[in-house]
Amino acid sequence: MPYPRLIISLNDIYQNALTLKKMCDEKGIELVGVTKLTLGDPKIATILKEAGISKLGDSRLKNIKKLIENNIPGPFQLLRIPMISELEEAVIYADEILVSEEKTALIIDEIAQKYDKNIQIILMIDVGDLREGIWYEEAPQKIAKLFEKLKFVDIRGIGTNLGCFGGVLPTEKNMNLMIEIKNYLEEKLNKKLIVSAGNTVALKLLEEGKLPEGINQYRVGEALLLGTDATGHREIPYLSQDTVILEAEVVELDYKPSVPVGKIGRDSMGRIPKFEDKGWRNRIILAIGEQDIDPSGLKPFDLGINVLHASSDHTIADITESSLEYNVGDIVKFRLSYGCALRAFTSPFVEKVYK
Ligand SMILES: *Cc1c(COP(=O)(O)O)cnc(C)c1O
Repeated sequence: MPYPRLIISLNDIYQNALTLKKMCDEKGIELVGVTKLTLGDPKIATILKEAGISKLGDSRLKNIKKLIENNIPGPFQLLRIPMISELEEAVIYADEILVSEEKTALIIDEIAQKYDKNIQIILMIDVGDLREGIWYEEAPQKIAKLFEKLKFVDIRGIGTNLGCFGGVLPTEKNMNLMIEIKNYLEEKLNKKLIVSAGNTVALKLLEEGKLPEGINQYRVGEALLLGTDATGHREIPYLSQDTVILEAEVVELDYKPSVPVGKIGRDSMGRIPKFEDKGWRNRIILAIGEQDIDPSGLKPFDLGINVLHASSDHTIADITESSLEYNVGDIVKFRLSYGCALRAFTSPFVEKVYK
């Protein structure tokens, strides 16, 4: 059996999907299942579909294409505001596209007309996180103006993204701002609009019954696939965290000082390493590295393991505090942070095993 590998529990992902689908259904919210963490994995996409999630979202057109080539039915939402250079394909493969630039929207309009493709766009509004979106103060006027210029494409609604650049949390305040903009536009354009305002971190508002009426689409990846919320910094108590487990193999067992010997430059990633002198320690080296994981996102099952560092291919952990015995050839298990899972899924060196 090749290592390192990810053990992916399709059943745990299925259960998470059922739970979230039910929560969203109860509030009339459309749940979009986001697959980007998994490199557009068709087996995982199938499980999400089986749990009743009809629309899948991904940030990469290549992933959407891969899903289609594996006979996963749409509709598909393209999450990353598209490049002009990919718009032709975006119109062909996606059904709903998040957009923040007028120029992009107008080109989508032309291409959609050429292909006679029924494309819907959601206009992204920045309510403070400072990633994508039209700044909220200018959004109502800009969107109303754009609406006049579009000949073919339908504006399905407005959306926002939180917790990604600025780490801004969704609150009743910024959600109500979205509702105000929607109300203004609905009256001005004389059409119904959806509000796509949630990702994993916004589940908290839903749980606490604090989500304003009118927010009706959530695009969720992390909660479904890992059962965690990185921005909200929690394990979501009603979801499973046993969805994805990493196994890596020990290739060296040693007893060495905790401080290097010699003049210190930078490490292999250009970082200045810091060391605390704890004397001589028992350590293991795992055959996995920065190319496959983010060492700071490894959460060992054995709480006596302290991950120290990784270079491109080696991860070093201190096992002095562990009550277990380790040998060369042993397998060590970890749960993963979002960033760490993202690398593991996208590394061709990490095997994917489904159970
Ligand atoms: C990744 C992404 C999501 C999903 O976020 P999670 O935190 O994984 O739920 C939603 N919307 C956009 C635009 C994204 O890029």
